[in-house]
Formats: sequence, C-alpha cells, structure tokens
Amino acid sequence: MRNADAWRALRAPFLTGLCLSLALMVLPLGALGEAPAADVPALPANPTPVAEPTSAPGVWDAGHTLRVLQKDGTVEAMTMGDYLWRVVAAEMPASFEGEALRAQAVCARTYSLWKLQAGSHKEDGADLCADSSCCQAYITPEDAAQRWAGNAEAYTGKIAAAVAATDGQVLTYEGAPIQAVFFSSAAGSTADAAEVWGRSLPYLVPVDSPEGEEVPNYRSTVTLGAEDVRKLAEQAGLGCDLSGEPSGWFQNLTRTASGRVASVELGGASLTGGAARDLFSLRSACFDIAEKDGVFTFSVTGYGHGVGMSQYGANALAKQGKGWREILAHYYTGAELQNGPSGD
Ligand SMILES: [Zn+2]
Repeated sequence: MRNADAWRALRAPFLTGLCLSLALMVLPLGALGEAPAADVPALPANPTPVAEPTSAPGVWDAGHTLRVLQKDGTVEAMTMGDYLWRVVAAEMPASFEGEALRAQAVCARTYSLWKLQAGSHKEDGADLCADSSCCQAYITPEDAAQRWAGNAEAYTGKIAAAVAATDGQVLTYEGAPIQAVFFSSAAGSTADAAEVWGRSLPYLVPVDSPEGEEVPNYRSTVTLGAEDVRKLAEQAGLGCDLSGEPSGWFQNLTRTASGRVASVELGGASLTGGAARDLFSLRSACFDIAEKDGVFTFSVTGYGHGVGMSQYGANALAKQGKGWREILAHYYTGAELQNGPSGD
C-alpha cells in the first residue's frame, strides 16, 4: 500500500513530535504528528475574499489513506479528505460559517496525524476509529444527509469545500505538533490547559472568546435538592460532612483567571471546578451556586472544557470577517500552520 509505506517513511521526522505526543497523552485529545516546515507558503492575515472554493478534494488529503475502525468492527480504508469530511460533519454544525468549518478541518487533520503516528489502533489493523470517546466524532455521508434533510446537498458541498480549502495544513508549535483541543462555547474567555488538566502548554492559554447569547443553551441551570447532592457526594466517596444546614454545605468557592471555578468545598471536602462539573452534570466549570430552602441551583455559562478553540467563538469570529488562519492563530497562541509531511 503506497500510503502505508509513505507513513512509515515519515516516522523519522515525526520523532520529535512523537516524544511530545507520548508525554501529553494524559490530555483528552492527543498531541499531533507533524513533519518539517518545508515550503510553507506566506499566509496572508486577511485573505482576499474569494468565491466559495470547489469541493474537489485537495491533493495532500487525497494522497493519504487512513484505515478507520467502524462501530460494527469492520475497518474501512478512505482518503484523509473523506475521513476529515466525516469528522467535520460530526464535530461542528454544518450551518456554521465556512471559515469556522475550515478551522475545524485543520484541528481534525492535526489530531488525525497524531493519532496515526501514536498507533493506538494497531491491534485493530486501523489508524483511527469512529468513536468520539476514543478518536473523533464521525458520521457517514448517508447519515449526515438524513440529518440535514433539505440542506443535505448544500451542506455536503460546504464541508467538502472547507476540507479542500485547508488541504494538508497542520497546526504546529516550535516545529512540533500541537494538541488542537476544542470545545463548544466559553463565557468570555478560554481556559488554560493547566487549570483543567494540570499541565501547561504554551499554546493553550486563556484568550478572549466573542460568543454570547446567540449560542443555544449558552446559559443553563441544574437544580438539585439537598438529598440529591448528598447522594452524589456519597456515590463519589467524597467523605464530606453534610450534617449541617444545606445553606452551609458549599464554601470557599475560588475562581481561575478565566472565571471558571477553580475549587469549591462541599461539606469540608475540596472539589476542583472540573470535578464539580462532572459530579453535578454541569455543561461547564463556569458556574455559580445558590441555595434556597434546601434546593441548590447551579447557574452555568458555556459548554465544554474551555481549552483551545471555542467552536461558537470561531463562528463568531468568522461572522466578524476573520479567516480560518486568524481564527486558529487566535485560539492557539503562537501556533503555526505548516504543510503536512509529504512522505511520498
Ligand atoms: Zn479510536
């Protein structure tokens, strides 16, 4: 197989990235494989608006084959371009601006390269899988068309165009691949990787994010009675003391620089904002807690872990006229776009 050989040939330039990748595997999305920065074209900060590009697949994406483990256990070989189409269609609403979809396509390609070199699906005879909890979200064109109904034709072409427009482009930092993590929406600012995963990365630091009330369910609430909170705390084995009045259960809430909950004490047990988010099924760690008559109300803003690119923020920036390169530069501080490894 030509492409399998090509990837094998890429191992050496990947070594630096591989080491970084392995070191970073604790994070939910991996560091990403990448190759030398050869022949990087000058990238205009403000590309001149052009007509919607053709959806003909890009040369680089068409020249690399991936083996994708399907949910039924079969392995399907497809081009990177076809795989990225399926990921972008599943990861971001197709109604989003074309520039936001392009930014998402670069994140998906960057992640795919890392996953491929990490070789975590070797035993399956595959490079990636179609399970969003392991690799990336994935939807077949048939299922996507069904979901999109009357918009199927337009959205199919729109996503193909987004992938083709970013053909072969990969995000890197100091010549090494980045972890192109992303999430749905933020409350004004993204989060530092350190405040969510306890590990700093120079390109995953807080930046302003412009989305707001236009985001569906931007503000959400979770209401829990005192007994619900007690049960959840017991199930989690927090070892807290909830013998007093519920009004005194939550204490000493502190916030991170990006406004998310850093820590909060429940009956004397300390929880990180992320742990509280998980425990009470909150959409993000940006929340307030109010108590009245033994009922707790968690008022939450945004959705997701908050690190890296905000998808709704990317869409808002695109609506302001920002291009995909600017969107990526905004959310991944100091990261650079490079051509993917040629390998052939
Ligand atoms: Zn997987």
